Amino acid sequence: MLIAGNWKMFKAQAETRAFCAAFEPPDGVDVVICPPFTSLAAAVEGGLTVFAQNVHWADDGAFTGEISVAMLQELGVAGSIVGHSERRQYFGETDERTARRAAAALVAGLRVIACVGELEAEREAGQTDAVLRRQISALEPHPELVVAYEPVWAIGTGRTATPEIAQEAHAFIKSLIDVPVLYGGSVKPENAAELLAQPDVDGALVGGASLDPDSFAAICRAAL
Ligand code: PEP
Repeated sequence: MLIAGNWKMFKAQAETRAFCAAFEPPDGVDVVICPPFTSLAAAVEGGLTVFAQNVHWADDGAFTGEISVAMLQELGVAGSIVGHSERRQYFGETDERTARRAAAALVAGLRVIACVGELEAEREAGQTDAVLRRQISALEPHPELVVAYEPVWAIGTGRTATPEIAQEAHAFIKSLIDVPVLYGGSVKPENAAELLAQPDVDGALVGGASLDPDSFAAICRAAL
């Protein structure tokens, strides 16, 4: 089981150090924290396994605002999220660029969590499978690749997919690509065990509830 915490644009360095001091993850679960770029080094120093929230495919170059794989590896960062729905919604991220980011990171030895998921309107229009198929078809399987199924209508909204909806989507994704699949979307200590008990749910990508060390530790314990 992999439990990853996506901090989004929360927690500067001092708050990251405070989190590391208070966070007591259980043994036996693969736990990862994804802080903002400026807090990556503090999280690594705090003894956590650390992923970035994004990574560029080029070694270096004129790409203002981007960060390379080598820059992350120099800090001791072990992996990266790519294609998060907030990148897709607010910053124009595409399937093609998500795939380039994933491929470059995987070739260089980073682990990757590639995010997929349908919008509410797409689910209501019966397009969930078509959207997932399009997003997954851009990706190549790799031993260090994990997919996160994050229905966009469940991210940061408090609306969690039912375990049945999650299981159905995960099984469909696994019919398209043979990699572990995490669930993401308003995972909390109260609903984590039920979601993680589904046969094709291999872990969770947690946003809001990963900001508090006690609540994130409780979600990690639910994976045992
Ligand atoms: C996320 O940021 O990937 C996420 C799932 O957020 P939340 O848990 O807050 O819905």
